[in-house]
Amino acid sequence: MSSEANAVDGVNANIARRGLMLVLSSPSGAGKSTIARNLLSDDPALSLSVSVTTRARRGSEIDGKDYHFIEERAFLRLRDDGELLEWANVHGNLYGTPREPVSKAMQAGRDMLFDIDYQGALQMFEAARSDICSIFILPPSMQELRARLVRRAEDTEDVIEKRLENSRVEMQHWYEYDYVIVNDDLNAAFAEVKAVLKAERLRRDRRVGMHDFVSDLLG
Ligand code: ADP
Ligand code: 5GP
Repeated sequence: MSSEANAVDGVNANIARRGLMLVLSSPSGAGKSTIARNLLSDDPALSLSVSVTTRARRGSEIDGKDYHFIEERAFLRLRDDGELLEWANVHGNLYGTPREPVSKAMQAGRDMLFDIDYQGALQMFEAARSDICSIFILPPSMQELRARLVRRAEDTEDVIEKRLENSRVEMQHWYEYDYVIVNDDLNAAFAEVKAVLKAERLRRDRRVGMHDFVSDLLG
């Protein structure tokens, strides 16, 4: 396994380990896509699970990179054919995680990032708990959450109101995640997410090559 695939330092990088699934959730506007984007450009060993969605594409989004934008009929077909690892209705649109790229990444020992809501996260916990590290991102205040949605300027006023209303239910699910980070200062929150990822990559149960390493060590 290459050191890049392991994304830990020194000797650690040469000891094989299982791929991990990093699940990031937050209410809309708390900053999880920004943190996810920063992580992906900072860490070549991590790839994004690109979801399918029936939501309309935002001006800044690229089809196939941010999401696969599809019609509802196509979404329901994927769901009914068992091709989604999880799916949910979020703010009135359908979102789902294609199963195949995740299976391939896990088999190859590569790490994947999932930007999904709590309903999807709960389904993933059921399916693959030991391979998942989950982080819930909270905003510092409701005022700041609203301000970020407005500043992002990608959604209509109605959509922003709906997302803020839904955020109250979403935030009650912080308790089901492994880690909780308040995104007040972006650099600080990003550093915290990176620290979690680094530690999770060093977890004993993911380090399948450690048995051989210790055998060699002991001669
Ligand atoms: P989400 O993916 O959780 O819906 P985004 O990542 O799109 O949220 O962030 C919403 C808006 O808030 C974006 O305009 C982003 O640049 C901004 N933002 C993210 N984190 C911070 C932060 N710590 N401080 C100020 N603005 C932030
Ligand atoms: P947005 O429309 O702002 O991109 O995303 C809205 C919400 O849907 C966010 O909470 C985001 O994490 C979630 N989401 C995006 N993709 C998926 C997915 O594949 N499955 C689930 N369950 N939620 C998703």
